[in-house]
Amino acid sequence: MRLDLIRGLAQPADTKVLLFVLDGLGGLPLEPGGPTELEAARTPHLDELARVGTCGLHEPVAAGITPGSGPGHLALFGYDPLVYETGRGVLEALGIEFPLEPNDIALRANFCTVDADGIITDRRAGRISTEEAAPLAELLDGIECSGAECFVRHVKEHRFLLVLRPDQALGAAVHDTDPGRPGEAPLEPRALDAASEPAARLMSSWLKAARERLADQPRANMALLRGASRLPEWPRFGDVFGMRASATAAYPMYRGVARLVGMDAGSVPEGADSLAAEYRRRFDDFDFHFLHFKPPDKAGEDGDFDRKVAAIEEADRIVPALMELGPDVVIVTGDHSTPALLRSHSWHPVPFLVHGGAARNDDAGSFGETACAGGALGLRRGRELLPLAAARAGRLAKFGA
Ligand code: ZN
Repeated sequence: MRLDLIRGLAQPADTKVLLFVLDGLGGLPLEPGGPTELEAARTPHLDELARVGTCGLHEPVAAGITPGSGPGHLALFGYDPLVYETGRGVLEALGIEFPLEPNDIALRANFCTVDADGIITDRRAGRISTEEAAPLAELLDGIECSGAECFVRHVKEHRFLLVLRPDQALGAAVHDTDPGRPGEAPLEPRALDAASEPAARLMSSWLKAARERLADQPRANMALLRGASRLPEWPRFGDVFGMRASATAAYPMYRGVARLVGMDAGSVPEGADSLAAEYRRRFDDFDFHFLHFKPPDKAGEDGDFDRKVAAIEEADRIVPALMELGPDVVIVTGDHSTPALLRSHSWHPVPFLVHGGAARNDDAGSFGETACAGGALGLRRGRELLPLAAARAGRLAKFGA
């Protein structure tokens, strides 16, 4: 395994590594030959890091694969997202910072509408509003099932989180109950292996009780469950890379992914300045700092090219404050591309720069997709960036005699 290789070679050093993630950084030109968002942005400080440092493009998961932010970040932490997969239930829990315990079975759930015969007429309960759905989720919280505590937390609109906390560890390989189309009854929870039979029974009894509690509701009168999963037991970042790791992010989902690999995660208000201030506060206590900046992704998802440009410029403005503390090696990149043109995440390779440590020169005189395509580090898998940074920070010993 790749992480075992790193763990075997990691050596102590008095160096600090900074990973600055501009979520959804990669973009596309609005018309052929035009600049991307990053290329249109005025980024004198990032350009300078790119000029002195080494550039390239990375594919977070694999060629042609559009990553979610979870897998995109795992790759940047050095974990192969195809090996370290997170269940959707666990991701939903991370997104609202529900404190999962090791035996907990987390499920991504949503309200649906069924008719008198129990046939689904709307798989999302008419996309019920958050105002209507939140009290219904509260109604479902605390349903009692023998052998497990049950928690329900509203997430957004028709979506909620269900957590089953059994007395003992159970398998969580249970099939989703959503048949995928209206006109059919919800599927019975079906265990995919013998160890997961008790979890399937728990889900069945929870669903039965939920349906009774929702019986009088006109629209949201049943629930669908998917993505049953438990907290994964993965190698911890600190053990693999030998660095005390800090994560700073305004959004809970990113703190959650960082905690999955054992980082110490702190929250900040939105905005680049508060990110820089928290980095300064935490700088001495950690060897590795991950800073997460969300606005470029949000603007890209909204299809707002100019706002994405402005968000990238906001990130650029704090670069001097980040560099002033003297991190030895710095990576600046995104967890995936979110071109405003597509209004969504995309598979396009993401520009990155690595600054600091012993390195060759390249011609990238500015930070942008075109310049990075000609960078010395070429096209890489996202998981390779952190080992490269660790090497440049003097933290990886020789392999073999
Ligand atoms: Zn993202």
